Amino acid sequence: MTQLDTRAVHAGRDDLAGLGVHVPPIDLSTTYPLADVASGGAAYDRLAQGNAPEQAESRVYQRLWNPTVARLETALAALEASEGAVAFSTGMAALSACLLATVAAGRPHVVAVRPLYGGSDHLLSTGILGTTSTFTELSTIGESICAETGLVLVETPANPTVDLVDIAAVVRQAGDVPVLVDNTFATPVLQQPRLQGATMMLHSATKYLGGHGDVMGGLVAGTTEWVARLRQVRAITGALLHPLAAYELHRGLQTLPTRVRAQQAGAAKVAEWLCSHPAVDKVHYPGLPECDPLGLVGRQQRGPGAVLAFTTPDAERVLTRLKLITHAVSLGGVDTLIQHPAGLTHRLVADEVKPSRDLLRLSIGLEDPDDLVRDLAQALG
Ligand SMILES: *Cc1c(COP(=O)(O)O)cnc(C)c1O
Repeated sequence: MTQLDTRAVHAGRDDLAGLGVHVPPIDLSTTYPLADVASGGAAYDRLAQGNAPEQAESRVYQRLWNPTVARLETALAALEASEGAVAFSTGMAALSACLLATVAAGRPHVVAVRPLYGGSDHLLSTGILGTTSTFTELSTIGESICAETGLVLVETPANPTVDLVDIAAVVRQAGDVPVLVDNTFATPVLQQPRLQGATMMLHSATKYLGGHGDVMGGLVAGTTEWVARLRQVRAITGALLHPLAAYELHRGLQTLPTRVRAQQAGAAKVAEWLCSHPAVDKVHYPGLPECDPLGLVGRQQRGPGAVLAFTTPDAERVLTRLKLITHAVSLGGVDTLIQHPAGLTHRLVADEVKPSRDLLRLSIGLEDPDDLVRDLAQALG
Protein backbone atom coordinates (compact mmCIF):
# COMPACT_ATOMS: atom_id res chain seq x y z
CA MET A 1 0.00 0.00 0.00
CA THR A 2 1.33 3.44 -0.96
CA GLN A 3 1.68 6.34 1.49
CA LEU A 4 -1.35 8.48 2.37
CA ASP A 5 -0.25 11.53 0.35
CA THR A 6 0.16 9.35 -2.74
CA ARG A 7 -3.20 7.71 -2.20
CA ALA A 8 -4.85 11.11 -1.83
CA VAL A 9 -3.65 12.07 -5.29
CA HIS A 10 -4.26 8.77 -7.10
CA ALA A 11 -7.00 6.80 -5.32
CA GLY A 12 -10.25 6.25 -7.20
CA ARG A 13 -8.53 6.98 -10.51
CA ASP A 14 -7.44 3.47 -11.56
CA ASP A 15 -9.78 3.36 -14.56
CA LEU A 16 -8.77 6.73 -16.05
CA ALA A 17 -5.82 5.55 -18.16
CA GLY A 18 -8.01 2.85 -19.69
CA LEU A 19 -10.59 5.51 -20.54
CA GLY A 20 -7.85 7.63 -22.11
CA VAL A 21 -8.48 10.61 -19.82
CA HIS A 22 -6.45 12.40 -17.16
CA VAL A 23 -9.21 13.60 -14.81
CA PRO A 24 -12.37 11.72 -13.83
CA PRO A 25 -15.22 12.12 -16.31
CA ILE A 26 -18.46 13.45 -14.82
CA ASP A 27 -21.34 11.11 -15.60
CA LEU A 28 -24.61 13.02 -15.24
CA SER A 29 -26.93 10.27 -16.52
CA THR A 30 -30.01 9.84 -14.41
CA THR A 31 -30.85 6.64 -16.27
CA TYR A 32 -28.93 4.00 -18.24
CA PRO A 33 -29.90 1.94 -21.31
CA LEU A 34 -31.05 -1.61 -20.61
CA ALA A 35 -30.21 -4.55 -22.90
CA ASP A 36 -33.42 -6.40 -22.03
CA VAL A 37 -35.82 -6.71 -19.12
CA ALA A 38 -34.26 -9.84 -17.64
CA SER A 39 -30.68 -8.53 -17.45
CA GLY A 40 -31.94 -5.08 -16.40
CA GLY A 41 -33.98 -6.62 -13.61
CA ALA A 42 -31.01 -8.71 -12.46
CA ALA A 43 -28.83 -5.57 -12.39
CA TYR A 44 -31.54 -3.71 -10.46
CA ASP A 45 -31.66 -6.45 -7.82
CA ARG A 46 -27.90 -6.58 -7.42
CA LEU A 47 -27.51 -2.79 -7.09
CA ALA A 48 -30.52 -2.37 -4.79
CA GLN A 49 -28.92 -4.88 -2.42
CA GLY A 50 -25.87 -2.63 -2.18
CA ASN A 51 -23.54 -4.44 -4.62
CA ALA A 52 -21.29 -2.77 -7.19
CA PRO A 53 -22.31 -3.36 -10.84
CA GLU A 54 -20.62 -6.00 -12.99
CA GLN A 55 -18.44 -4.64 -15.80
CA ALA A 56 -20.94 -4.95 -18.69
CA GLU A 57 -24.04 -4.49 -16.55
CA SER A 58 -26.39 -1.49 -16.86
CA ARG A 59 -26.23 1.00 -13.95
CA VAL A 60 -30.05 1.20 -14.32
CA TYR A 61 -30.71 4.50 -12.46
CA GLN A 62 -28.58 7.15 -10.74
CA ARG A 63 -30.17 6.46 -7.34
CA LEU A 64 -28.69 2.93 -7.56
CA TRP A 65 -25.20 3.73 -8.90
CA ASN A 66 -23.11 6.55 -10.36
CA PRO A 67 -19.50 6.02 -11.50
CA THR A 68 -18.34 9.56 -10.62
CA VAL A 69 -19.64 9.15 -7.07
CA ALA A 70 -18.20 5.62 -6.90
CA ARG A 71 -14.69 6.90 -7.69
CA LEU A 72 -14.89 9.33 -4.75
CA GLU A 73 -16.08 6.50 -2.52
CA THR A 74 -13.16 4.29 -3.58
CA ALA A 75 -10.76 7.15 -2.86
CA LEU A 76 -12.10 7.87 0.62
CA ALA A 77 -12.09 4.18 1.49
CA ALA A 78 -8.41 4.02 0.51
CA LEU A 79 -7.62 6.99 2.78
CA GLU A 80 -9.65 5.57 5.68
CA ALA A 81 -8.00 2.12 5.42
CA SER A 82 -11.50 0.71 4.93
CA GLU A 83 -13.13 -1.82 2.65
CA GLY A 84 -15.50 0.73 1.13
CA ALA A 85 -17.39 4.00 1.48
CA VAL A 86 -20.81 5.45 0.64
CA ALA A 87 -21.48 9.08 -0.27
CA PHE A 88 -24.54 11.14 0.66
CA SER A 89 -25.87 14.62 -0.01
CA THR A 90 -24.70 16.01 3.37
CA GLY A 91 -23.06 14.88 6.59
CA MET A 92 -26.46 14.76 8.28
CA ALA A 93 -27.82 12.56 5.48
CA ALA A 94 -24.86 10.23 6.07
CA LEU A 95 -25.57 10.05 9.81
CA SER A 96 -29.29 9.57 9.11
CA ALA A 97 -28.47 6.59 6.87
CA CYS A 98 -26.36 5.03 9.66
CA LEU A 99 -29.24 5.46 12.11
CA LEU A 100 -31.83 4.10 9.66
CA ALA A 101 -29.63 1.05 8.99
CA THR A 102 -29.35 0.56 12.75
CA VAL A 103 -33.13 0.77 13.21
CA ALA A 104 -33.67 -1.55 10.22
CA ALA A 105 -31.37 -4.12 11.84
CA GLY A 106 -33.81 -4.23 14.78
CA ARG A 107 -31.51 -2.66 17.38
CA PRO A 108 -32.64 1.00 17.54
CA HIS A 109 -30.81 2.02 20.73
CA VAL A 110 -27.77 4.29 20.28
CA VAL A 111 -25.11 4.97 22.90
CA ALA A 112 -23.38 8.30 22.28
CA VAL A 113 -20.60 10.24 23.98
CA ARG A 114 -21.07 14.02 24.21
CA PRO A 115 -20.10 16.53 23.03
CA LEU A 116 -21.26 15.90 19.48
CA TYR A 117 -21.91 18.24 16.59
CA GLY A 118 -25.14 20.12 17.48
CA GLY A 119 -27.06 18.65 14.54
CA SER A 120 -26.05 15.08 15.48
CA ASP A 121 -26.99 15.68 19.12
CA HIS A 122 -30.36 17.06 18.00
CA LEU A 123 -31.03 14.16 15.60
CA LEU A 124 -30.43 11.67 18.41
CA SER A 125 -32.24 13.68 21.10
CA THR A 126 -35.42 14.02 19.05
CA GLY A 127 -35.44 10.33 18.08
CA ILE A 128 -37.08 11.40 14.85
CA LEU A 129 -35.69 8.40 12.93
CA GLY A 130 -36.94 5.86 15.45
CA THR A 131 -33.79 5.61 17.55
CA THR A 132 -33.61 5.87 21.33
CA SER A 133 -30.41 7.29 22.79
CA THR A 134 -28.32 7.14 25.94
CA PHE A 135 -25.71 9.86 26.30
CA THR A 136 -22.83 8.73 28.44
CA GLU A 137 -19.17 9.17 29.35
CA LEU A 138 -16.44 7.04 27.87
CA SER A 139 -16.09 5.03 31.10
CA THR A 140 -19.79 4.03 31.19
CA ILE A 141 -20.29 3.03 27.54
CA GLY A 142 -20.17 -0.66 28.46
CA GLU A 143 -22.89 -0.44 31.11
CA SER A 144 -25.10 1.73 28.84
CA ILE A 145 -25.24 -1.01 26.21
CA CYS A 146 -28.32 -3.27 26.26
CA ALA A 147 -29.75 -5.96 23.99
CA GLU A 148 -31.41 -3.24 21.87
CA THR A 149 -28.16 -1.30 21.26
CA GLY A 150 -27.21 -1.20 17.60
CA LEU A 151 -24.64 1.59 17.49
CA VAL A 152 -22.08 3.46 19.56
CA LEU A 153 -21.38 6.99 18.29
CA VAL A 154 -18.40 9.14 19.23
CA GLU A 155 -16.76 12.22 17.79
CA THR A 156 -13.05 12.93 18.24
CA PRO A 157 -11.93 15.68 18.23
CA ALA A 158 -15.47 16.65 19.25
CA ASN A 159 -17.41 19.67 18.12
CA PRO A 160 -17.09 22.36 19.54
CA THR A 161 -14.58 21.88 22.38
CA VAL A 162 -12.18 19.59 20.46
CA ASP A 163 -12.24 17.07 23.32
CA LEU A 164 -10.50 13.81 22.41
CA VAL A 165 -11.97 10.35 22.94
CA ASP A 166 -9.84 7.19 23.14
CA ILE A 167 -11.23 5.20 20.18
CA ALA A 168 -9.58 1.90 21.16
CA ALA A 169 -11.14 2.18 24.63
CA VAL A 170 -14.56 2.86 23.07
CA VAL A 171 -14.19 -0.19 20.82
CA ARG A 172 -13.23 -2.38 23.81
CA GLN A 173 -16.31 -1.27 25.76
CA ALA A 174 -18.62 -1.59 22.76
CA GLY A 175 -17.90 -5.31 22.42
CA ASP A 176 -19.72 -6.54 19.33
CA VAL A 177 -21.81 -3.36 18.93
CA PRO A 178 -20.64 -1.40 15.85
CA VAL A 179 -18.73 1.82 16.59
CA LEU A 180 -19.23 4.89 14.39
CA VAL A 181 -16.57 7.60 14.72
CA ASP A 182 -17.30 11.06 13.34
CA ASN A 183 -13.90 11.78 11.80
CA THR A 184 -14.82 15.17 10.29
CA PHE A 185 -12.37 17.20 12.42
CA ALA A 186 -9.32 14.93 12.21
CA THR A 187 -9.79 13.70 8.61
CA PRO A 188 -7.98 10.49 7.58
CA VAL A 189 -4.81 12.57 7.32
CA LEU A 190 -4.55 12.74 11.11
CA GLN A 191 -6.48 9.67 12.18
CA GLN A 192 -7.83 6.41 10.72
CA PRO A 193 -10.19 5.05 13.39
CA ARG A 194 -10.50 1.74 11.49
CA LEU A 195 -6.97 0.97 12.74
CA GLN A 196 -8.28 1.26 16.32
CA GLY A 197 -11.13 -1.12 15.50
CA ALA A 198 -13.94 1.31 14.65
CA THR A 199 -16.59 -0.11 12.30
CA MET A 200 -17.45 3.09 10.44
CA MET A 201 -16.08 6.60 9.94
CA LEU A 202 -18.44 9.50 9.23
CA HIS A 203 -17.50 12.69 7.41
CA SER A 204 -19.23 15.92 6.82
CA ALA A 205 -17.41 16.24 3.48
CA THR A 206 -18.67 19.82 3.47
CA LYS A 207 -15.75 20.60 5.79
CA TYR A 208 -12.15 19.46 5.17
CA LEU A 209 -12.70 16.96 2.34
CA GLY A 210 -14.13 19.64 0.05
CA GLY A 211 -12.03 22.24 1.79
CA HIS A 212 -13.18 25.33 -0.10
CA GLY A 213 -16.63 26.04 1.31
CA ASP A 214 -18.38 25.43 -2.02
CA VAL A 215 -19.77 21.91 -1.84
CA MET A 216 -21.87 19.93 0.62
CA GLY A 217 -21.59 16.19 1.06
CA GLY A 218 -21.34 13.35 3.54
CA LEU A 219 -19.42 10.07 3.48
CA VAL A 220 -19.30 6.94 5.57
CA ALA A 221 -16.33 4.59 5.20
CA GLY A 222 -16.49 1.14 6.75
CA THR A 223 -16.72 -2.60 6.47
CA THR A 224 -18.10 -4.35 3.37
CA GLU A 225 -21.19 -5.39 5.31
CA TRP A 226 -22.02 -1.83 6.44
CA VAL A 227 -21.23 -0.33 3.06
CA ALA A 228 -23.81 -2.65 1.45
CA ARG A 229 -26.41 -1.78 4.10
CA LEU A 230 -25.81 1.95 3.72
CA ARG A 231 -26.03 1.74 -0.08
CA GLN A 232 -29.36 -0.02 0.35
CA VAL A 233 -30.60 2.74 2.65
CA ARG A 234 -29.38 5.36 0.17
CA ALA A 235 -31.15 3.66 -2.74
CA ILE A 236 -34.38 3.45 -0.75
CA THR A 237 -34.36 6.91 0.83
CA GLY A 238 -32.54 8.84 -1.91
CA ALA A 239 -30.13 11.23 -0.14
CA LEU A 240 -27.67 11.05 -3.06
CA LEU A 241 -24.51 13.04 -3.59
CA HIS A 242 -24.72 14.81 -6.95
CA PRO A 243 -22.00 13.72 -9.43
CA LEU A 244 -20.76 17.32 -9.79
CA ALA A 245 -20.34 17.51 -6.01
CA ALA A 246 -18.60 14.11 -6.08
CA TYR A 247 -16.17 15.44 -8.69
CA GLU A 248 -15.36 18.47 -6.53
CA LEU A 249 -14.89 16.35 -3.41
CA HIS A 250 -12.68 13.86 -5.25
CA ARG A 251 -10.50 16.75 -6.42
CA GLY A 252 -10.52 18.13 -2.87
CA LEU A 253 -9.04 14.89 -1.55
CA GLN A 254 -5.91 15.42 -3.66
CA THR A 255 -4.87 18.45 -1.63
CA LEU A 256 -6.32 17.27 1.69
CA PRO A 257 -3.04 16.15 3.34
CA THR A 258 -1.25 19.36 2.32
CA ARG A 259 -4.11 21.59 3.44
CA VAL A 260 -4.61 19.83 6.77
CA ARG A 261 -0.92 19.99 7.69
CA ALA A 262 -0.58 23.65 6.70
CA GLN A 263 -3.79 24.63 8.53
CA GLN A 264 -2.63 22.65 11.56
CA ALA A 265 0.68 24.52 11.62
CA GLY A 266 -1.25 27.81 11.61
CA ALA A 267 -3.60 26.61 14.35
CA ALA A 268 -0.69 25.68 16.63
CA LYS A 269 0.66 29.24 16.36
CA VAL A 270 -2.72 30.87 16.95
CA ALA A 271 -3.43 28.57 19.93
CA GLU A 272 -0.11 29.42 21.51
CA TRP A 273 -0.73 33.14 21.03
CA LEU A 274 -4.26 32.93 22.49
CA CYS A 275 -2.90 31.15 25.59
CA SER A 276 -0.91 34.22 26.53
CA HIS A 277 -3.65 36.81 25.84
CA PRO A 278 -5.09 38.44 29.00
CA ALA A 279 -8.66 38.56 27.60
CA VAL A 280 -8.68 34.81 26.94
CA ASP A 281 -9.67 32.56 29.85
CA LYS A 282 -9.20 29.11 28.38
CA VAL A 283 -7.92 27.72 25.10
CA HIS A 284 -9.17 24.33 23.89
CA TYR A 285 -6.68 22.75 21.48
CA PRO A 286 -5.51 19.12 21.46
CA GLY A 287 -1.92 20.34 21.02
CA LEU A 288 -1.95 21.80 24.55
CA PRO A 289 -0.91 19.17 27.12
CA GLU A 290 -3.80 20.04 29.50
CA CYS A 291 -6.29 19.33 26.67
CA ASP A 292 -4.87 15.88 25.97
CA PRO A 293 -4.48 14.15 29.36
CA LEU A 294 -4.41 10.67 27.77
CA GLY A 295 -1.66 11.60 25.32
CA LEU A 296 -3.77 10.70 22.29
CA VAL A 297 -1.99 13.13 19.99
CA GLY A 298 0.91 11.15 18.58
CA ARG A 299 -0.72 7.85 19.50
CA GLN A 300 -4.27 7.91 18.07
CA GLN A 301 -4.05 11.16 16.16
CA ARG A 302 -1.00 12.19 14.14
CA GLY A 303 -1.42 15.87 15.05
CA PRO A 304 -3.68 18.26 16.95
CA GLY A 305 -5.61 19.47 13.90
CA ALA A 306 -6.68 22.94 12.83
CA VAL A 307 -9.81 23.61 14.90
CA LEU A 308 -9.57 25.26 18.29
CA ALA A 309 -11.91 26.99 20.71
CA PHE A 310 -11.41 29.60 23.39
CA THR A 311 -13.40 31.42 26.02
CA THR A 312 -13.40 35.18 26.41
CA PRO A 313 -15.85 37.33 28.45
CA ASP A 314 -17.26 39.46 25.62
CA ALA A 315 -17.34 36.72 22.98
CA GLU A 316 -20.23 38.08 20.91
CA ARG A 317 -18.60 41.50 20.62
CA VAL A 318 -15.28 39.99 19.51
CA LEU A 319 -17.11 38.46 16.55
CA THR A 320 -18.40 41.82 15.36
CA ARG A 321 -14.91 43.38 15.49
CA LEU A 322 -13.03 40.84 13.37
CA LYS A 323 -12.03 42.06 9.91
CA LEU A 324 -10.06 39.27 8.20
CA ILE A 325 -11.60 36.27 9.96
CA THR A 326 -15.16 35.57 8.81
CA HIS A 327 -17.95 35.16 11.35
CA ALA A 328 -19.75 32.11 9.90
CA VAL A 329 -20.63 28.54 10.83
CA SER A 330 -18.88 25.56 9.16
CA LEU A 331 -15.17 24.79 9.20
CA GLY A 332 -12.34 23.06 7.41
CA GLY A 333 -12.05 25.46 4.48
CA VAL A 334 -9.05 27.41 3.20
CA ASP A 335 -10.26 30.59 4.94
CA THR A 336 -10.49 31.05 8.70
CA LEU A 337 -13.99 30.98 10.19
CA ILE A 338 -15.14 31.75 13.70
CA GLN A 339 -18.53 31.13 15.30
CA HIS A 340 -20.42 31.10 18.59
CA PRO A 341 -21.44 27.46 19.32
CA ALA A 342 -23.99 28.25 22.07
CA GLY A 343 -25.79 30.71 19.80
CA LEU A 344 -25.47 28.91 16.47
CA THR A 345 -24.21 25.37 15.81
CA HIS A 346 -25.24 24.05 19.23
CA ARG A 347 -28.35 26.15 19.85
CA LEU A 348 -30.61 23.06 19.72
CA VAL A 349 -28.53 21.13 22.26
CA ALA A 350 -30.08 20.59 25.73
CA ASP A 351 -29.37 23.43 28.19
CA GLU A 352 -27.39 21.30 30.63
CA VAL A 353 -24.85 20.39 27.90
CA LYS A 354 -24.90 23.65 25.94
CA PRO A 355 -21.45 25.16 25.46
CA SER A 356 -20.55 28.26 27.48
CA ARG A 357 -21.73 31.59 26.04
CA ASP A 358 -18.10 32.70 26.37
CA LEU A 359 -16.90 30.03 23.94
CA LEU A 360 -15.86 30.76 20.36
CA ARG A 361 -14.83 28.06 17.87
CA LEU A 362 -12.15 28.90 15.36
CA SER A 363 -11.35 26.90 12.21
CA ILE A 364 -7.93 27.96 10.98
CA GLY A 365 -7.48 28.33 7.22
CA LEU A 366 -4.44 28.80 5.01
CA GLU A 367 -3.78 32.49 5.73
CA ASP A 368 -0.48 33.54 7.27
CA PRO A 369 -1.02 32.95 11.01
CA ASP A 370 0.59 36.32 11.81
CA ASP A 371 -2.29 38.04 10.00
CA LEU A 372 -4.82 35.95 11.92
CA VAL A 373 -3.16 36.85 15.21
CA ARG A 374 -3.19 40.55 14.28
CA ASP A 375 -6.92 40.37 13.53
CA LEU A 376 -7.65 38.54 16.81
CA ALA A 377 -5.49 41.02 18.71
CA GLN A 378 -7.44 44.06 17.50
CA ALA A 379 -10.78 42.30 18.09
CA LEU A 380 -9.89 41.13 21.62
CA GLY A 381 -8.64 44.66 22.41
C1 LIG B 1 -20.92 19.86 9.98
C2 LIG B 1 -20.82 18.60 10.73
C3 LIG B 1 -21.76 17.57 10.54
C4 LIG B 1 -22.96 17.73 9.61
O1 LIG B 1 -22.57 17.81 8.27
P1 LIG B 1 -23.39 18.60 7.14
O2 LIG B 1 -22.56 18.37 5.92
O3 LIG B 1 -23.48 20.03 7.58
O4 LIG B 1 -24.73 17.97 7.06
C5 LIG B 1 -21.59 16.38 11.24
N1 LIG B 1 -20.55 16.22 12.10
C6 LIG B 1 -19.64 17.19 12.30
C7 LIG B 1 -18.52 16.95 13.26
C8 LIG B 1 -19.74 18.41 11.64
O5 LIG B 1 -18.84 19.38 11.88
